[in-house]
Amino acid sequence: MDAFYTKITRPDPDDPTKSYADHTLLKTTEYCCEQFQNHNKKFPSWNYSTGKFTIIDSITYDSSTLVSINYCPFCGQKIRYKKA
Ligand SMILES: [Zn+2]
Repeated sequence: MDAFYTKITRPDPDDPTKSYADHTLLKTTEYCCEQFQNHNKKFPSWNYSTGKFTIIDSITYDSSTLVSINYCPFCGQKIRYKKA
C-alpha cells in the first residue's frame, strides 16, 4: 500500500531556534486490507513525528516503546511512504 503524507516544519514552541516536523497522513491513503484500516480506526498508529505507522514494541509501567513498520502486520504487504 502507499501511505501518502504531507510534511510541515513548525517552530518549536519551547525553543525558537529549533523546529520540528509534523507529518500528516492523507485521507487519500488506501489501506491494503480491511483489518489494518479497522485497526487504525480503533488504535491510531500513525506517528506524526516520524511519518510512519508504528506498533507498540514493549510496554513498561510508565512508558511504551514504538517501532516503525514497513510491512502491514495483518496481510504482510509492503508499506511505501510517499510524501505528497
Ligand atoms: Zn494489510
